[in-house]
Amino acid sequence: MTQAAKTTAETELRRQPMLIGGQWVWAASGKTIAIENPGRRQAFAEVPRGGEADVDRAVGTALAAFSTWRKVQPRERGLMLLRIADDIDRRSEELARTIAEETGNALRTQARPEVQIAVAMFRYFGGLAGEMKGETLPLGHDLLSFTQREPLGVVAAVIPWNAPLMLASVKIAPALCAGNTMVMKTAEDAPLAVLMLAEICQNHLPPGVLNMLSGTGPECGAPLLHHPAVAKLSFTGSTAVGKLVMEAAAKRVLPVSLELGGKSPSIVYPDADEDWVIDGIIAAMRFTRQSQSCTAGSRLFLHRKIYDGFLERLVAKTSQLRIGDPLDEASDIGAIINERQFTKVCGYVQDGLDQPGSRLVMGGLPDKEGPLSQGYFMRPTAFAQADNDWRLAREEIFGPVLVAIPWEDEETVIRMANDTHYGLAAYIWTHDLGRAMRAARDVEAGWVQVNQGIGQLPGQSYGGYKQSGLGREFSLAAMLDSYTQVKNITVNLAR
Ligand code: NAD
Repeated sequence: MTQAAKTTAETELRRQPMLIGGQWVWAASGKTIAIENPGRRQAFAEVPRGGEADVDRAVGTALAAFSTWRKVQPRERGLMLLRIADDIDRRSEELARTIAEETGNALRTQARPEVQIAVAMFRYFGGLAGEMKGETLPLGHDLLSFTQREPLGVVAAVIPWNAPLMLASVKIAPALCAGNTMVMKTAEDAPLAVLMLAEICQNHLPPGVLNMLSGTGPECGAPLLHHPAVAKLSFTGSTAVGKLVMEAAAKRVLPVSLELGGKSPSIVYPDADEDWVIDGIIAAMRFTRQSQSCTAGSRLFLHRKIYDGFLERLVAKTSQLRIGDPLDEASDIGAIINERQFTKVCGYVQDGLDQPGSRLVMGGLPDKEGPLSQGYFMRPTAFAQADNDWRLAREEIFGPVLVAIPWEDEETVIRMANDTHYGLAAYIWTHDLGRAMRAARDVEAGWVQVNQGIGQLPGQSYGGYKQSGLGREFSLAAMLDSYTQVKNITVNLAR
């Protein structure tokens, strides 16, 4: 049993090494990173601070493993993924507690469901192993022409901290299923659950197929993305870093998948003045994940006819959510990930308070004293009568700050919804099918939900328009497009 299998209830600093070539190792430099529980502002674990030498070893071992892994029968690979899914499920409570402890996401509302999404992801892709099919082409009687799908090689993957297990699984499962090997860099704030996932995977995979590093972006992520033996870059994170990833890909003409930021609209039509819509909007805003979600419906476009009453009920319902220790079963909402992000979100709230004409209807700046000042806790916050031009409405806050913008005609609201360089999610709320489908058609977003605010499900092609990303995840099409390359073979049968 590695350190990863120990419980998180331990009081001493938990020490978790990283995985390279089937071995649990510390950074060649000997450096470490302390992992803090954001609900208590306390370090409780440490992981290696990987660097260039560690990246080099990991990519080398992944490259060596690729030559045999690609030849493993796809259904055999699929079976391994299914066994991994069962093991994640078996260790779900331990994983969920670790996620809650390192991310600050509430155990009951966020961490446990996230583990189940990881299980579903490995099951979904495990079952698709036989679907990496090509096609035959009718080029003539004597020409046999067909395509086949081949893996790319070593995939370099970099992920953020906000839903670490889900975001790791959605890359590992399809990439490995398609016959690639992988070196993944975890996020410096939340590497522990993903390192545990690597341990589970390692029990079912040949050494070197999956390598899991911990370290910072510049020291560990950058050398990984620039490593000459890497064949594909798969990144989830901010648009700013996504642009650096694309530059790295351009240098060697590598395929790249980018899942980036968002500033997603939630559009409420006047006929949707109902309580289930309010619940859906609270879910879409991801308040129970402190709105640290790329798909947060953080721009609420409320029709003027229902504006005041709807907002009042939204505030009343949201205020019932309980904020507190992420590990406490009673908590609906946990803590913001770290001090930097906490300070940044506070800055946005202050900006909203200073905005001429703004009206704070819920939340505000965090408590300076009392139990909630023990961690990076922040109440759901909303500003009414907001304008789509405010900084609060234009920039991704990645925190619980909602802006409610009134609208009157459909054309204007769609124009406002699209007036952003992001294009990830969009939520539409109405009983009128025609309106819903017009809005779904016209909104510039890669992932559109009508009358529901839940997160991504396996099978949905998920990804961004505009600066929210490139490529898709979560689906069979995504696996084929992101993790295989197509070869055409044509045989002249007459010769
Ligand atoms: P970030 O871009 O700062 O960091 C993401 C990852 O990139 C981390 O592992 C970090 O260490 C690494 N990194 C940072 N600089 C790097 C560099 N120069 N070279 C290589 N790697 C580097 O993002 P974050 O703050 O951790 O996460 C929040 C962002 O992620 C938000 O913008 C959010 O919208 C986005 N996100 C997108 C999705 C999606 O599916 N589209 C999902 C989750 C989060």
